[in-house]
Amino acid sequence: MADLETSSEGAPRPRQTNSASDRLSKPSRVGLYGGTFDPIHHGHLILARDAVEQLGLDRIVFLPAAISPHKLASNPTPASVRRDLVGAALKDEPGFILDDREIYRAGPSYTVETVEALKTELPGARFVYLIGEDHLPKLATWHRFEELRLMVEFVVLGRGSAFAGAGSFRTVERRLDISATEIRARVARGASIRYLVPDIVHQLILENHLYQGAPY
Ligand code: ATP
Repeated sequence: MADLETSSEGAPRPRQTNSASDRLSKPSRVGLYGGTFDPIHHGHLILARDAVEQLGLDRIVFLPAAISPHKLASNPTPASVRRDLVGAALKDEPGFILDDREIYRAGPSYTVETVEALKTELPGARFVYLIGEDHLPKLATWHRFEELRLMVEFVVLGRGSAFAGAGSFRTVERRLDISATEIRARVARGASIRYLVPDIVHQLILENHLYQGAPY
């Protein structure tokens, strides 16, 4: 996957993007994990590892969204920054793959469009889509949901919230009270986020002065 940008000499050169199809050869069961990841945290990573183990997945593809259709009203950190945090967090974990296609696609990041593309690129793969239970009540309103549900198996990541249950969906259960919202708020008020995020993510948040003084 490469598209063109202009080099300092003015000549077009390919820009490297990360796409799952570049790095997956013959996967059979692929987990897809979409989100804002603002920032990625240990809750995401621990649940992804649990999903690999419990669902027998070959890989998990992390898909940072450009604009989450579910969070259109908020003001997220630039997509390229969130993408870099995800990339840094996954660097030493071969089973976890960053796919940044959604941040280069115009408009909201609709999951159905991503899955359609991945199905074409990875024929024969079976897809499991991981969603936090907080998204479950609105799942049926996702863009082209009836088509999407035939393309993936949804598996619900339990958050230990008030939501009554996962209905007919399989679940990956672990009560981890970690959220990106809390992490942004802690940074904004000067509290430590050590142990909530990987060390490299912590370092990048400090270096890039993310979440400083914002109204979180
Ligand atoms: P925010 O606090 O900004 O809403 P978040 O921590 O929920 O962010 P997202 O990027 O929205 O992070 O998460 C991606 C997906 O992971 C979502 O489906 C979300 O519900 C799920 N998720 C995030 N944190 C947890 C957690 N601690 N336990 C279970 N699921 C989680």
